[in-house]
Amino acid sequence: MPTFPHVHETKPIVCSGCTTQCGLVAHVRDGRVTEVRGDHDHPLSRGYICPKGKDAPSLAADPRRLLKPLRRSGPRGAGKWEEIGWNEALDEIAARISSITTQHGRRALAYSYGTFRGGDWGIGERFMNRFGSANSCGQDKICYGPLALAETLTYGVGPTVFTPPVAGVTQCIVVWGMRPSASAPLLWRAIREAQRAGARLIVIDPQQTDEARRADHWLQVRPGGDTALAVALLKLLVGSPHLDPDFIARETTGFEALKAHLAAQDLSALVTACGVPADDLSRLATMLGTIRPAVIHAGNGLCQGGRSALQLGRAIACLIGLTGNAGVPGGHALGGPPRDLRANGEMFDADLLPEEARRERLGAEHLPFLGSGYTELDEVLAQHWHGRRHLLSWIATAHEPTLWRAIETGDPYPVRALVVQNHNPLGANPDADAVARALASEQLELSVVHDLFMTPTAHLADFVLPAAHWLEKPWFSFGIGFVGAFGDFVGAAEAAVPPPGEARSDYAFWRDLGRRLGQADAWPDQEQQFYDSCVAEAGLTFSALSGRTGPVFGAEARRPGNESESVSAKAYATRDGRIALYSDWLHERAQPPLPTPLESALDGVADAWPHVLTTGGRQIEAFHQNAQHMARFRRKKPHPVARLSLDTARELGIAAGDWIEIETPVGRVRQCALPVASLAPGVVEADRWWYPEGIDDAADPFGLRATNINFCTSGAPEDCDPVMGTWLMRGIPCRVTRLENGPGNE
Ligand code: SF4
Repeated sequence: MPTFPHVHETKPIVCSGCTTQCGLVAHVRDGRVTEVRGDHDHPLSRGYICPKGKDAPSLAADPRRLLKPLRRSGPRGAGKWEEIGWNEALDEIAARISSITTQHGRRALAYSYGTFRGGDWGIGERFMNRFGSANSCGQDKICYGPLALAETLTYGVGPTVFTPPVAGVTQCIVVWGMRPSASAPLLWRAIREAQRAGARLIVIDPQQTDEARRADHWLQVRPGGDTALAVALLKLLVGSPHLDPDFIARETTGFEALKAHLAAQDLSALVTACGVPADDLSRLATMLGTIRPAVIHAGNGLCQGGRSALQLGRAIACLIGLTGNAGVPGGHALGGPPRDLRANGEMFDADLLPEEARRERLGAEHLPFLGSGYTELDEVLAQHWHGRRHLLSWIATAHEPTLWRAIETGDPYPVRALVVQNHNPLGANPDADAVARALASEQLELSVVHDLFMTPTAHLADFVLPAAHWLEKPWFSFGIGFVGAFGDFVGAAEAAVPPPGEARSDYAFWRDLGRRLGQADAWPDQEQQFYDSCVAEAGLTFSALSGRTGPVFGAEARRPGNESESVSAKAYATRDGRIALYSDWLHERAQPPLPTPLESALDGVADAWPHVLTTGGRQIEAFHQNAQHMARFRRKKPHPVARLSLDTARELGIAAGDWIEIETPVGRVRQCALPVASLAPGVVEADRWWYPEGIDDAADPFGLRATNINFCTSGAPEDCDPVMGTWLMRGIPCRVTRLENGPGNE
């Protein structure tokens, strides 16, 4: 007998296949989602759906999904498991966390979570803050963290680089280090609409992307040359007659210091470093100086630049600020946090984390933003943003490369217990060899993975627990994910269906662990009740929000009686309320206070390596590693592909389909070559890792050491940004060779 009657119903939902948050309609039959379609009534997405969204029901119904909790029954990584019940698993996990942290302190527990997988994304931070460990690791270091911090230091809020252009108002659009057609389709639609209404489009990218082909101007920057390019633009702009002296005197600080700093920069050296002809740079500087309003959509390609990542963000923020494009219609919106909602860190009880624990956060000893620097900046922001706290907690997470070192070596202190949620750090982190050593280490006394599938990281765990897909849990969001930097905005939707088997939501995992570890009163039975507490101040409820199509904006998200109080559009939430071209905060932490390209250890060896590696690019069919194993994706790409220029391929005797080796000073892997006309000579753009192929290969499970490009990237402190710890994925010195005996080579 079927469990559900054969009824077909439709439910409005919001997609969590990526951070775009499209409104969808789920078709449900017999308790399963059979199809999802774009919701034409949704005010933001207006019927749009991408291949990832369409594939969501297949992903949720994939027969490889984990449906029962598993406990390791053989050596770690041997693939031997026994099924157990949730209660038994959680009792044992709680007892072991208790014992480990009694012996080594609360900081010996770490939590590592992946990118957006539903409304309860990162909810474990709430448990960790209440527990007293600051060692929650997110992906912020390479996902908008550097831009968010840079913009916040400059005008008091960030990231604003997602502000969509307004057709007929925005006159100039720069797409920089981003492929919005693959990573932010609604933004790309808005860009195209603004372009059709007359806006000029400039694309800055090492590759001639679809966006570049549709642009008025394409600047082919050398991978890793973006900071030099941004500083060159600033120099040309500051030396031009196009800036408004009254605006600069009235609304900025540090202009004279910036001018002197830029005068000392050698333009020809910057041109060489970025690889863009000086004339093209001059033309763009003139456009930015004369065409307003403008938006600069800076992408994750700029947040993965290692040592210079924050400096690059600061250069872009100064470009936005100097040209008067911060806080103007058609430019960058300075929304700030929601006025009357408990968003972001407040929602995760960041106030309950003791300051002493925050100062001990992994990485804080050498990355000033992660410890006391965060606290001081938070004070400034709270004074401006109507007392709201922890706006930046999402980018002040622990430094993941430092976590692996702490597990393996006990430096800076031992970390002995780890919970990983919806994340495969073996594929996502730099220096994958170091991650593999840590996950296999005997020093790691407890390793728990909560995920949809048996990932390579789960394969090395002690407990593997089945997670709910986003179609199976309630959705809730302030702005993009839980970032809460987009003004008064909140949306909610109920789950389309319940989870299958014994799969549970992230919230349910932390609720039940929390109740076993002294947090009994902190976790309501249902996540909807928890979300109620986040919006109660504004007189809203989860059910009221989920009963409507589309989010609540503006006055509707305000406390009753407080609707008309508004934040000025030009609210610069900085120490002195002006745009900080010179950053005192950076100066006080012995960092360049004015935008400056920084050298990394890898730059020092570049001359000995003939080629340049860039990786981490997005594709429309999969959100990061999620769904790369699905049939639609694999039909298009059966192998991880390394694209390289036609010239370089010819020179090395490489043809399409040949297997090549990519070697960097860190390591070497192989991928399948695809010569393309869109890349400059010497540049190779490599895909992420492919799995679950090779799951049973005892010598190299999942092919970890074969094709995982993160065996070639570095997480060493000398290669990371010195303020927040961003590692380098763009512009790595490398050498490419054809493999004579590659799998497809003859
Ligand atoms: S772009 Fe695709 S995956 Fe992202 S929210 Fe929209 S439909 Fe979902």
